[in-house]
Amino acid sequence: MRAVVYDVPGSFEVRDVPDVEPGSGQVRVRMTRAGMCGTDLHLHDGQFLAAFPLTPGHETVGVIDAIGPGAVDGEGRELAVGQQVVVNPNSSCRSCDYCAEGRPWLCDGFAGIGSSTPGGFADYVVVPGAQLFDATGIDPDLAVFAEPSACIAHLMDRLDPLEGQSVVVLGAGPTGVLLIQILRYKGAGAVTLADPNPAKLDRAAALSAIETTLVDRDDVRGSLDAIVAAHGGQFDIVIDATGRAAVIGELPRLARNGGRIVYYGVADESDLVAISPFEIFRRELTIMGSFTEVDSFPDALPAFRAGAIRMDGVITHRFALGDYADALDALRSDRTAHKIVIEGSA
Ligand SMILES: [Zn+2]
Ligand SMILES: [Zn+2]
Repeated sequence: MRAVVYDVPGSFEVRDVPDVEPGSGQVRVRMTRAGMCGTDLHLHDGQFLAAFPLTPGHETVGVIDAIGPGAVDGEGRELAVGQQVVVNPNSSCRSCDYCAEGRPWLCDGFAGIGSSTPGGFADYVVVPGAQLFDATGIDPDLAVFAEPSACIAHLMDRLDPLEGQSVVVLGAGPTGVLLIQILRYKGAGAVTLADPNPAKLDRAAALSAIETTLVDRDDVRGSLDAIVAAHGGQFDIVIDATGRAAVIGELPRLARNGGRIVYYGVADESDLVAISPFEIFRRELTIMGSFTEVDSFPDALPAFRAGAIRMDGVITHRFALGDYADALDALRSDRTAHKIVIEGSA
């Protein structure tokens, strides 16, 4: 089979690798869609818990090809060859203090399919059955958003209660488009989406009842003040889905007194921002991070089955596995790219 293989950060090739048989409790999945996101650029540079040699790909949809002895899915159910599934890339040690406290995403032994073990940018991926979830009947172009939605489901847990809260999301990438829909599904009040790209905002507004607002990259501060003016005040919850330091440093401007600011986009590991401790103190702002999920796929998938998630037109670019270099270029620099997926061909 073929796989994208990085031997060292920054250097990869698509090459033949040995076929892998599923061992006890494992399942072999034929990849049909594997989504790309900004994390893949961080992995390319060797950041984000990357272990080399590395086959990335953490947003994988596929069809079961072979089942090892005793394998059942993440909800303890039998699996069948030919069944469509989505892969939960994340797992934890299940024995440390954080895992015992029910917070496995904080585990120091956190492991990721596609960052610490081989992922979905391959014809086939072999994974523990316990990290598979049934996706029968869900369009693969929608199921490819299951993993980012599970990460958002974890964020929703952390933001509970959301009822009636006003929210602004910075960044209309695929994550921003998912966020606004899941926020509405979970009962948030007015939701505003901000981005410099009008095409992405228009696409998002066609999918969900939200306010949208353009951001001027050259005047972030002025743009954020204009968002507050247009909204008629600051927001209860401010979510960064850009990972850009120039935006993150200005987020307190958007928050009401007592508000919550979430760092959700992946910033570069070397980024620093200046914030005013006095402002955080005086206005009782909460700054929180939300990283990933471990057990949230069962929370995320019902919204798909209920038809509450629509991503029509968000996949703008599709590449074959052999064209991974082109896909990476598009992810890095094509301003018309919204969601980029790798399509399986095996
Ligand atoms: Zn991702
Ligand atoms: Zn642990």
